[in-house]
Amino acid sequence: MELLNTPTVSDQDRGGPDPRGSAAARLVARDRAVVWHPYAAAGAAAGGPLFAVASASGVRLRLTDGRELIDGMSSWWAAIHGYRHPVLDAAAHAQLDTMAHVMFGGLTHEPAVRLAETLVAITPAPLAKVFLCDSGSVSVEVAIKMALQYWLGRGRPRRTRLLTVRRGYHGDTSGAMAVCDPDGGMHHLFTGLLSRHLFAPAPPCGFDEPCTDAHVAPFAALLAAHADETAAVILEPVLQGTGAMRGYHPGFLTRVRELCDEHGVLLIADEIATGFGRTGELFGCDHAGISPDIMCVGKALTGGYLTMAATLCTDEVADGVCASEAGAFMHGPTFMANPLAAAIASANLELLLGSPWRETVRRIEAELAAGLAPAAELPGVAEVRTLGAVGVIETREPVDMAVIQPRLVELGVWVRPFGRLVYTMPPYVTGTADIATLTAAMVEAVATASR
Ligand SMILES: *Cc1c(COP(=O)(O)O)cnc(C)c1O
Repeated sequence: MELLNTPTVSDQDRGGPDPRGSAAARLVARDRAVVWHPYAAAGAAAGGPLFAVASASGVRLRLTDGRELIDGMSSWWAAIHGYRHPVLDAAAHAQLDTMAHVMFGGLTHEPAVRLAETLVAITPAPLAKVFLCDSGSVSVEVAIKMALQYWLGRGRPRRTRLLTVRRGYHGDTSGAMAVCDPDGGMHHLFTGLLSRHLFAPAPPCGFDEPCTDAHVAPFAALLAAHADETAAVILEPVLQGTGAMRGYHPGFLTRVRELCDEHGVLLIADEIATGFGRTGELFGCDHAGISPDIMCVGKALTGGYLTMAATLCTDEVADGVCASEAGAFMHGPTFMANPLAAAIASANLELLLGSPWRETVRRIEAELAAGLAPAAELPGVAEVRTLGAVGVIETREPVDMAVIQPRLVELGVWVRPFGRLVYTMPPYVTGTADIATLTAAMVEAVATASR
């Protein structure tokens, strides 16, 4: 899920000077021989430094060379309670003692049923049915397939296109890729393979900037022109994540819901990044008080322990899907509803809902805003912004990863910039002092890198 960055080779990658001991260097060398990393070239050609992690606990990652880093990424939005949380560890052990996995065709189990009940209870009504799957990208594939099968079931087979906004990110599989931002994404590499969907401009109104008719007009016009062939609108509610790291006003979402209703088009909310409190409400949709027809959740669902996601839909969508010729929803991953992941997910949600998460996210938001504010004065910085427990420094030029990544590690934090975005979404259990260290390091590293 990481965007491309310019390959560069550091001393550490070449197996060159590593004053902090050779165990880490040896592991990196073995890695370079055989392992792919996200959005990276393979092996020796891979760009940027690589750090070996020995263990993680609380909000600390411990490197094999003994250094400890404050985690500013929650392992890509996921580890909201930090690492090795005793409650989540206990849930994992207890489930392992019962069963790690069993197929889901024709069988069911307590962890799956319990998790589905919780998801229906905490997501906006009338979402009522839950499809548990392996990863965020798969949940987006499932959502798209549900929308297409729904229209087959309702006798409108011409409704096959999706409409979305630019600067979105929905995953790396081909269905999801086809609705990612067409310029920043991978469309040009896969023209001919990807379905051709409809792209309105990114929401122009910032999160705090009231949304006007003029802001929504291009989206409304595109939908009106293509309503007859549009199966669904898909977007990330109130915060565009990986493609932009930028919030937009909930009023935009409200208007999108109204327009979808007007044209009889389904609305898919991709809450994979925004879900479970990150933006200050439990779900991004809650800022606007709207309900989608289909919703994807993932990332923080298992607190960062295992890969699992879910696609929820209304009874109306479920009925439409089953009215299609197949009479069933045509999807079923091997590891569907994995009991181990489901048990940890339930423990994770119980922990979250039993915590003062709203106050916590508000505190982190204020601390991120205060800590990152000095970056706004730096010459290379275009904008500093926060939304919920997400803090972003946007630079004018793409950051040099070969410079900024080692600098951040030297300063004792794990932050993984991409392109022009140096951003953090720390675990909710991060204390005030650690947020201060994290933000000061980000400001310092950006100052170094844009000098
Ligand atoms: C990360 C992400 C995905 C893809 O999830 P994976 O688990 O990486 O497949 C989809 N949509 C959004 C909004 C995401 O942030």
